[in-house]
Amino acid sequence: MTSAEKKGKDLPLQGLTQDGWSNEEEATTTCACGAVQMVVPLKAPGLVNTFVCHCADCRKVSASMFATNLTTLDSHTRFTRGEENLTLFAQSHTTTTGRKMTNAFCRTCGTIMYRFGEVAPGTKFMRGGPIDDHTLHDTILKPQVELFAEHRTAWVTPVEGSEQAHGMGTFGG
Ligand SMILES: [Zn+2]
Ligand SMILES: [Zn+2]
Repeated sequence: MTSAEKKGKDLPLQGLTQDGWSNEEEATTTCACGAVQMVVPLKAPGLVNTFVCHCADCRKVSASMFATNLTTLDSHTRFTRGEENLTLFAQSHTTTTGRKMTNAFCRTCGTIMYRFGEVAPGTKFMRGGPIDDHTLHDTILKPQVELFAEHRTAWVTPVEGSEQAHGMGTFGG
């Protein structure tokens, strides 16, 4: 175990479970009840990018004013438990591309773990909030891009140093 590795009590209270961890390569993301836990990559090529989205869809599905995300390759993203406890909800009516987007959430506690869509095959838009090591959001996982920045609610300020994209930005291309 190197000094960069953290687990259990090194991390903030993680919902009902306390078995999250992080190291220089990977980190866990766990739903609030603990039934679903995944491991995400923290380095390229597995970690594609990090972004915030202010679109109306993300407000609804995150039950908040914006969503924090990291795009990861499916090949570098895995479950440690609970894949069978996810419910998938897919629709294409409110996506600006008209292409289907699917939400994957824990059917016990409702935590949304990721979205995936036809817009980016082979990847997942992992939600940032359930990641167990919160300090990663200040460093490796700090948002690089803000999507739908024109819809950002007035009392939220831009992330310092981040690209401000109109709509989907380069994601939409
Ligand atoms: Zn859960
Ligand atoms: Zn969005």
